Amino acid sequence: MLIFSGVANVFAAQAVVYSFSDEYQSLTSRLTTEPQRVLTELTNSAPQRDASNAVKAEYYAILSDTYYALTYPQKAIESAQKGLSFITEESEPWLYHNLKLIEATAIEMAGAPIDALLAVNKAVAWAQDNHNEETYILALYVRGLLFTSLNEYSGAAENFLEAYSLSTQYTGKISKANIAGMIGVMYENRGDYKLAIPYYAEAVAHARKNNEPLNLSIVLFGLGSANFRAGNIDLGETQLIESADIARSLDDSQGVGYALKQLAKISIKKQDYALAEKRLKRAAEIFADSENRPIDFQISKSLFEVALATGELDKAERHRDRAKEFLNPTTMPSDTIEIEQLEAELAAAQGDLAVAYAHMQQALTLSSEYHATRNSEQLHRLRAIYRVRASEQENKILEHQNRLQRFALNAQEQRNVYLWAFLGILLLVCCLLAVMVYRVKAQSKALTKLAITDDLTGLYNRRHIIEQLERQVNAANRYKYDLCVAIIDLDFFKKINDSYGHAVGDRVLIEFSNICSKNLRQSDIIGRIGGEEFLVILPHTNLQDGYNALDGLRHKISMVSNVIDIKDLSISASIGLTFTTDGRESMQLMADADTALYQAKTLGRDQVVIHPQSTPVNS
Ligand code: GH3
Ligand code: MG
Ligand code: MG
Repeated sequence: MLIFSGVANVFAAQAVVYSFSDEYQSLTSRLTTEPQRVLTELTNSAPQRDASNAVKAEYYAILSDTYYALTYPQKAIESAQKGLSFITEESEPWLYHNLKLIEATAIEMAGAPIDALLAVNKAVAWAQDNHNEETYILALYVRGLLFTSLNEYSGAAENFLEAYSLSTQYTGKISKANIAGMIGVMYENRGDYKLAIPYYAEAVAHARKNNEPLNLSIVLFGLGSANFRAGNIDLGETQLIESADIARSLDDSQGVGYALKQLAKISIKKQDYALAEKRLKRAAEIFADSENRPIDFQISKSLFEVALATGELDKAERHRDRAKEFLNPTTMPSDTIEIEQLEAELAAAQGDLAVAYAHMQQALTLSSEYHATRNSEQLHRLRAIYRVRASEQENKILEHQNRLQRFALNAQEQRNVYLWAFLGILLLVCCLLAVMVYRVKAQSKALTKLAITDDLTGLYNRRHIIEQLERQVNAANRYKYDLCVAIIDLDFFKKINDSYGHAVGDRVLIEFSNICSKNLRQSDIIGRIGGEEFLVILPHTNLQDGYNALDGLRHKISMVSNVIDIKDLSISASIGLTFTTDGRESMQLMADADTALYQAKTLGRDQVVIHPQSTPVNS
């Protein structure tokens, strides 16, 4: 627990200020003086159904504190747990840990301090992490209480002393004076009476200064007892007398009784047995109706001691018997030993040495048994504390492992995110590339088409149809198949332009091209080689079929005028046809077709003329 030293500076920069409401503060500050009234007020002012969870939790926190002040540990535990049911550590961390600390004090009072240790350790850690000094001091104080009741005095000392050194406030639930008082109790329990004195003294000074008589009477009792036990007998007596006087003025008869009982011990020590007896008898009167068996025992035992010291053996026997009535050997082992010792003294005084010896023997046996069980109990407690620490350590390791796992998972997720992002970008780039490739292809296709197409008619242009002619003629010559070549020339086209205008001439050219495209076969090829002159290639076609096809086309051409719908417009064409048989080159074939065309013109136009050299071999 040394790790907690030196955290004081951390609190210099408090991050968040948490606290209970003013109502809570004022109610809890009244708990030392009028707990019963606070309880009545609380039961009449339970929070509304629609109150927030935090308000409900706070209400049960006060209720728990109140039951604690009234020493009803079980009810205090239940109230704290009810309060905790409205909140979680995540939703209301400050309230959660403070309620846990309230529950811990109640659990300690119920006699199960070890059960509360884990929660208190957590509260200490939370308060430290969150720089919440008030909770930190409270948690240390509560841990000090737990350790005190576990008889783990060094742990208790560490916690109380640190809480004491950090505490600056002298008001509220955990004031510096309160802590000082607890340090006094802790040292006194431990048998370090000299160490207890300055802390009790501080608590006394504080209670005196702030005019808190009830507290003053209590801490004066502590201070007086410590002084007496430390050997400052007269000083202790004065302080105990003052404690008794104050208690008397407050009608706190129990306080008077405790002081008198302690004062009787001083009288015994001073061998003023008359005063001792007087004090004890008054104490006995006070506690007569309280049914407080340990106190009744203490008083009877002291009276037994006094009677022994004064040699009143009959009286001693009576007090011994009464003391033994209140003695429970199982729960009061050290008292049982003391009684055995006193009985041995009594028997010796009565001259019955054998009985005295037997009692001495019994006292010794009990004493060694007692120390053995005490040691094993102590061991048990230490083991329990160790187990709490071990489980905390284990939790820390597990948490650490979880954090590492979460970290690894996050890193993996991050990597996955990057991977997906990368894949996404890659896909996008691929799409863009595909679009670009498609567009480039489409563009080049368009360009190619543009390069081989005639603007006006959409047919092949001169350059391309002549290339096609060369290719087709070469293939026909090589593979010996039939091929017809023809040139079509529109008749008196100049006249059409002149009569109807150039635009009509253009429309005629377009409609003529459409008719050709529609009426020729898929495998036939047509292109524009001049203004109103067209070259037609008919592969795998004999002369007769070629002639029929072109003559059919010539008839259809007259229908152009119907489409254009202009009065008196008549359209006709002359066609020169030739046919491959003898390996003539493309240029020769074109020239022959042209010759045949010229002939058709001279023969009166609107007809198909076959070049005389075209001798059909396959037909
Ligand atoms: P023939 O029956 O002897 O062939 O007489 P023709 O008038 O058709 O022949 P000619 O060669 O004397 O005239 C061809 C005319 O075609 C001359 C030219 O103005 C016209 N022409 C050439 N290309 C185009 C064109 O693209 N559009 C239009 N509207 N007219 C064109
Ligand atoms: Mg012409
Ligand atoms: Mg012409």
